[in-house]
Parts: sequence; C-alpha cells; structure tokens
Amino acid sequence: MNMRNKIVAGNWKMNCDISQTYELLDELKDSELPEDVTVIVTPPFTSLQSANQALVDSDIIVAAQNMHQAANGAFTGEVSAAMLNGVGIDTVILGHSERRAMFWETNEILAAKVNTALENEMTAIFCFGEELGDRKSDNHFNIVKEQLQEGLFHIKAENWESIVLAYEPVWAIGTGETASPEQAQEMHKYVRGLVADIFGNEVAKSVSILYGGSVNPANAKEIFGQEDVDGGLIGGAALKAEDFIAIVNSF
Ligand code: PGA
Repeated sequence: MNMRNKIVAGNWKMNCDISQTYELLDELKDSELPEDVTVIVTPPFTSLQSANQALVDSDIIVAAQNMHQAANGAFTGEVSAAMLNGVGIDTVILGHSERRAMFWETNEILAAKVNTALENEMTAIFCFGEELGDRKSDNHFNIVKEQLQEGLFHIKAENWESIVLAYEPVWAIGTGETASPEQAQEMHKYVRGLVADIFGNEVAKSVSILYGGSVNPANAKEIFGQEDVDGGLIGGAALKAEDFIAIVNSF
C-alpha cells in the first residue's frame, strides 16, 4: 500500500490580486476537503501574508512560487527565504519550467536555491520535465535525469524529508494536452528508481512525486490512480475553486 503523502498544490502563477485571492480562498475554506490530502495554494508574493492570515484556522498550506538563492543584497526585485519565513511561509516551488525558460534559471541556480531552502528549513517542491522536442527525440529520460542530478541530487539523504518532486512535461503545461496516465507513471517510476539508486529504497518509497500539466477534474482520477503518482501541481484549474476542489477529491 502506498503510504506516501498525497498532495495537491495549486500553482496560481501571476494571477489573483488581493481581492481575488480572498475570494478564491473563501471558496476553498468553505469546502469539504479530504483529511488525507495535503492541499497547497501559491498566491503571488503580494498576497502571501494575507493568504496565510486568512487560512490561519485551515489546514491549507500557503507556499511561494519562487525565491532568490541569496540571503539578501543587491538583487532588485527579488525575495529571499528569510523574507518568506518572516510572513509565515515555509514551502516554495523551485524550478518551474516557466522560471527555467523565461527567467533563465539553470540547474546550477536551482541547486543553490535548493540549498537555501534547506538552510532555511523550508520544503521545496522541485519541478522538472522535458520539452516536446526531447520527448519526440526520445531524450526525455536523459533530460529529466540531468535536471535532477545537477539541480537536486547533491542533497543528503535526510534532506529528502523537505523535498516534494513535481514532474511537469513542458509540452503538457497550459496546453490542454495531458501526459497519458501511462506516460506519467512511466516517468514517475523512472524518477523513483533514480532516487533509490542514489539515496536508497526508504527515501525513494517515501518521497511524493506530483504530476503537473493540464490536470483537470475530468482526468485527475486516472492520473492520481497510478502507482507512483502521489498528487498534482495544478495551474489553470487551480484558479477555479470548483475545479480545484474536484481535483483534490480525485484520489
Ligand atoms: P497547467 O499548469 O495545469 O495550467 O497545465 C501546470 C503548471 O504549470 O504547474
């Protein structure tokens, strides 16, 4: 039986001003959510503190979408781990494909961000995934392996308690084209195998691996039903309370 944490995280991206944040959170707070699923929301930086306060009596976790790797300094426009900690945030998404593609985040930068998250006792949701060309040329396993080896696998075995993995094939993000449940399972199993090879079976068995890319209420159940899929990172569908709640209830 699978005893890993089930997790559904909503990646709000650059959506929701403060009033829209309150609106969406009100709907989530008022809904029935299963007790055995960890639910995470990631409003933009400007809403994080208010969201945390709004959810003070709820089990829903508020996380950030990104942070800088340095402790502080001359990095105009950036936000540090300590700043997030200061407003009660201890979970952060790292390495989303939009950050990799549009903000030039390399595996090396991500390795530094992972270290910063761990030093600040934060949980990192570490994203990785291949582009369409990689899959078409049958290079997807190599790309994923490289992203994990260079960005994450330098950590120690005990650090895995603070890591959640999120496989997000770039070609499935925001496109309406989901990986098939079999494609997701195949990659998740491969990744769990990589973790087992380096960090041992116990670590591999306990790490949650989320799937992301056009998950919606109609396809979530089949995807979450795969043996090595422990939940989802949800973009577009996380902005509609009804859809997000339906996805959370899809295990
Ligand atoms: P999507 O986004 O669900 O809109 O495809 C997923 C993500 O980018 O995390």
